[in-house]
Amino acid sequence: MLQKHSEGKTVNYIRPEINAMRGYVPGEQPKAGEAVKLNTNENPYRASEKVYAAIRKVADEGLSRYPDPIADSFRKAAAQRYGVPQGCILCGNGSDDLLTILTRTFISSGEILRLPCPSYILYQSLAEIQGAKSETVFFNNDWSLPNSFCAASSAGTLKLAFLPNPNSPSGTVLPKERVLQIAEQLPCPLVVDEAYADFAEDNCISLLEQTDKIIICRTLSKSFSLAGLRFGFLFAAPKYVEAMLKVKDSYNCDSLSIAAAIAAIQDTDWQQDNRSKIIAARSVLVNRMRELGFTVPDSQANFTWNTRNDMPVKPIYEYLKQHGYLVRYMNYADWGDGLRISAGTPEQTSECLSLIEKAVLRTAR
Ligand SMILES: *Cc1c(COP(=O)(O)O)cnc(C)c1O
Repeated sequence: MLQKHSEGKTVNYIRPEINAMRGYVPGEQPKAGEAVKLNTNENPYRASEKVYAAIRKVADEGLSRYPDPIADSFRKAAAQRYGVPQGCILCGNGSDDLLTILTRTFISSGEILRLPCPSYILYQSLAEIQGAKSETVFFNNDWSLPNSFCAASSAGTLKLAFLPNPNSPSGTVLPKERVLQIAEQLPCPLVVDEAYADFAEDNCISLLEQTDKIIICRTLSKSFSLAGLRFGFLFAAPKYVEAMLKVKDSYNCDSLSIAAAIAAIQDTDWQQDNRSKIIAARSVLVNRMRELGFTVPDSQANFTWNTRNDMPVKPIYEYLKQHGYLVRYMNYADWGDGLRISAGTPEQTSECLSLIEKAVLRTAR
């Protein structure tokens, strides 16, 4: 990392913020067929056939032209589907791209980002890249969020707050009345990351009419079975969308993904059918894991969060891995560890549960 320039002095060309950070580590991605993946909350089913047809059509037409920089055709379709004005919609190369654009648009070096904990770890890495500080507030034992989440910061200017809802890794939800209260009390905008909202009973879209302090992020990766496609979108006040358009890459979404995304959000039949299959697998997971002695909060996402005090859970993760099942082992500083398990097909879910039963018996011995 250290390099000598011509006078022989040693210079480190890399920004100190980047040298200091560890970098986000995504969940393991084994080669196809090597393991059953229940570790990154992907959807186990094929996407709507209409999505693949849309991709083939665009490919057949050729790809020699740049895509529409703001993906207006998608914004129009999304405005119809979600009842949100077109000028309030911004598209991204996955919602991780939108989270990056948000951080770059709202937070300067030295300023403060507010995060709940335990939650999505990427937010912290984005703050570090920006040279910003992140302040975390722990969830209460019942997964409600204390009011200190809304307080101004004593360490600097609070510029943005992130709140996944449903939360990861817990799968728990804050009711939308509470989200509105949090947004109104915060001295800055609140990003509600709704990556899992399609599996929940409710969402925060209706709050957009009540306050311009709420920004809602969505992704096609989980509830549309399109993690490999990379497409996300957000809803925000037009003044924020306009600011973010200046920050994003000119062509952050490609023609294939824009066409696929339109087909995906328009096929509501596919989504209803998929949603009920995932919710069924989730309830099998929750009930059986509780019978096996785990503490499992009620989940409104496509995964469950499983902890226990009477034995370590890491050996269970390792046993599953040896037997071809990947789940996510998470360990949060000053909080504790647990296993996050995604809802699979019925067969995957029941096979995983019988392996867990065996692992619990071995670990208990
Ligand atoms: C999976 C996930 C995302 C990322 O979605 P992409 O669109 O695949 O980038 C964002 N937020 C949360 C909380 C997630 O779990």
